[in-house]
Amino acid sequence: MAETSIISNTANLEKYLKLSQKGKVIAEYVWVDGSNGLRSKCKTLDKKPESYKDLPEWNFDGSSTGQAPGENSDVYLRPVAIYPDPFRQGDNILVMCETWSSDGKPNPYNFRHDAAVVMEAHKAHEFWFGLEQEYTLLDFTGWPYGWPKGGFPAPQGPYYCGVGTGKVFCRDIVEAHYKACLYANINISGTNAEVMPAQWEYQVGPCEGIDLGDQLWMSRFLLHRVAEEFGAKVTFAPKPIPGDWNGAGLHTNVSTKEMRAEGGMKYIEQAMEKLASRQKEHMAVYGEDNQLRMTGRHETASYDKFSWGVANRGSSVRVPRACAQEGKGYFEDRRPASNADPYQITGIMVETLCGMVEG
Ligand code: ADP
Ligand code: MN
Ligand code: MN
Ligand code: MN
Ligand code: MN
Repeated sequence: MAETSIISNTANLEKYLKLSQKGKVIAEYVWVDGSNGLRSKCKTLDKKPESYKDLPEWNFDGSSTGQAPGENSDVYLRPVAIYPDPFRQGDNILVMCETWSSDGKPNPYNFRHDAAVVMEAHKAHEFWFGLEQEYTLLDFTGWPYGWPKGGFPAPQGPYYCGVGTGKVFCRDIVEAHYKACLYANINISGTNAEVMPAQWEYQVGPCEGIDLGDQLWMSRFLLHRVAEEFGAKVTFAPKPIPGDWNGAGLHTNVSTKEMRAEGGMKYIEQAMEKLASRQKEHMAVYGEDNQLRMTGRHETASYDKFSWGVANRGSSVRVPRACAQEGKGYFEDRRPASNADPYQITGIMVETLCGMVEG
């Protein structure tokens, strides 16, 4: 632990967490800011809401988050989903929100709105998404957690799914985050240590349609919050350490009702043709600095050229061996970077496979 980090005295805090809330409920409104980060603020409610629809719209100062100019700074928060709050527990909730500008239009950083429109139009296809979120834990100085100060650990090899001291770092954070996600009804499907030490992965899904983006953003919020309590920083940078160290991705597993049914492979092959024709458009929303990661090495494909193959981890899209054998299932788009926005990824996927819709 870096000496400069500030760790709250959790034993002392325990006393206050146990105090009665006298029937009031705390709702923590969470939103995506103007730089792909998360923000939150809390509101006291008189009673527990049955659904997100019972929650009031709220607002914040968008000039402080890069989401609005100073002279017209109000940005509105519209609740879209609620989750049990694993930190406060009881009836308290976390609230995922969309951001709206004062002119009545979605805020320029509200990428959920367009994605939800295109998904609603094509909901008959029952899109399922499962995303593999990779990330790296840093100490307070910004160096990967557990790495020698100003130096490097031994080369990659023993760390992926590693067990034992010196092979994994911060398992406590990973474990706490896993439990927090389950408590919050996040459909977290698993977790594993990654190839680069201090790098980890968890998966969210399968979730239908826009629900994936909501759940993944909330899972990121939970990760930042948990890591905060342990004095670690989370980075979603796709290539946090240059050189012979694996980057971090956000593999996106996709299926439609047709792909999952008997003979579904035909629809997966059609999808590959459509994806091939829109490589540029997809890469534009698949995360910043992704060209640093997509070098064609370290289990990545080339940044510019689309390719796909069965069981091939060096191609843009991989069809799992088991799906090819069964002739149905799903495909894995390996291109998105760890810092990509799941609303934009899932939105463009539906748009490319099913067609654009006028918002
Ligand atoms: P990998 O072998 O690439 O590491 P993981 O096991 O980490 O794969 O992640 C696979 C993801 O695919 C999980 O999130 C899972 O929920 C998701 N998934 C499984 N089946 C489907 C499907 N039919 N459609 C969409 N996603 C799926
Ligand atoms: Mn104020
Ligand atoms: Mn995985
Ligand atoms: Mn991985
Ligand atoms: Mn994968």
